[in-house]
Amino acid sequence: MNIHEYQAREIFRQHGMPVPPGEVATTPEEAEKIAKTLGTGVVVKAQVHAGGRGKAGGVKLAATPAEAREAAGKILGMQIKGLTVTKVLVSPVEEIEHEAYVGAIVDRANGAVVLMASPEGGIDIEEVAAKTPELIFKETVDPRYGLLPHQASRLAYKLYAGDPGRARQAADIITKLYASMLGAGASLLEINPLITTKSGELKAIDAKMNIDDNELFRRTTIAELRDVEAEAPEEVKARAQGLTYIKLDGNVGCCVNGAGLAMATMDLVKYYGGEPANFLDIGGSSSPEKVVTAIEIITSDAAVQSILFNIFGGITRCDDVANGIVEATKEIELKVPITIRLTGTNEDEAVKILEDAGFSAMTDMDEAVQKAVELAKN
Ligand code: GDP
Ligand code: MN
Repeated sequence: MNIHEYQAREIFRQHGMPVPPGEVATTPEEAEKIAKTLGTGVVVKAQVHAGGRGKAGGVKLAATPAEAREAAGKILGMQIKGLTVTKVLVSPVEEIEHEAYVGAIVDRANGAVVLMASPEGGIDIEEVAAKTPELIFKETVDPRYGLLPHQASRLAYKLYAGDPGRARQAADIITKLYASMLGAGASLLEINPLITTKSGELKAIDAKMNIDDNELFRRTTIAELRDVEAEAPEEVKARAQGLTYIKLDGNVGCCVNGAGLAMATMDLVKYYGGEPANFLDIGGSSSPEKVVTAIEIITSDAAVQSILFNIFGGITRCDDVANGIVEATKEIELKVPITIRLTGTNEDEAVKILEDAGFSAMTDMDEAVQKAVELAKN
């Protein structure tokens, strides 16, 4: 789950992180009022689940409350990476002397949290990683011991060698970053930039936080931070039906049961020269209703040129899936070809249901994927 910067800032605050104050506005007038209350120049920032807001024009400085209103007027309603801005954060403007980067991520290969720091902050960390990877420093946290003080110090001194004052502040911030990660059940946390002000103070002026969905059931206050309006509508719809859906950039719409088979299917689509339009796992046990929702979601993506069903019937019954496909296509007119591969539990019944409805079904996965990829090209 993604949360907004203002929400991540609040979590940071609760862990003692130095974060500037600020309030959220949904109208230009509200932004003006907040700026008046703060009594300083402000920065007005789009609150959307996307990075690169600065480059997109979603971060603006304003010297007066009137300017804050004007800036908010420009940012509210703006589209950033396909997401509409409905909220802005209004925060006192900081005088920046230096921008660094600190982040934390769950490293699945190591089964541990990795802390990262770079003196090259303010720009995309991916860009730093590509051009000057030697300027990204890392520490792996052993989950048995947690973050050890010397690890935080080592990273901090990589950032501010020769400046113990700043390094001490940075070590404290890195420690609080790790505490925030554990506290919120985050899988990724980034402060970019971590700034040094003209007076030598370190502050987090941006906050990105992804929460691990599997942590939400035991963190009800964090779960309440979900902003459904800010999420992609298809993903919201899929979640409501218990489907896992992630939109991708390709044109082969994939509908699969089981995450492993979904990954294998996407690999095979790529292997045969295609690009998957999505990851969609209809789950282990399936009802015709789930299949209907899946088809609704896939067909609502205009990029999809070909639909591929790949079902391995174990607990999932192939006839349930077949019934779902037949039902869905009664309601929704398919504008693109559909390729169906199913095998396993109640396969014969499924083939009969599909053939009676005028569909053909395949049993070989390679053949089906190849066909779906071909159809997407035409
Ligand atoms: P992002 O582009 O989505 O990562 O948004 P950020 O919060 O990182 O803001 C982008 C950039 O705007 C930062 O890297 C800063 O250079 C600038 N910026 C943000 N807040 C302030 C501020 O308070 N003062 C100044 N001078 N610049 C700021
Ligand atoms: Mn940033």
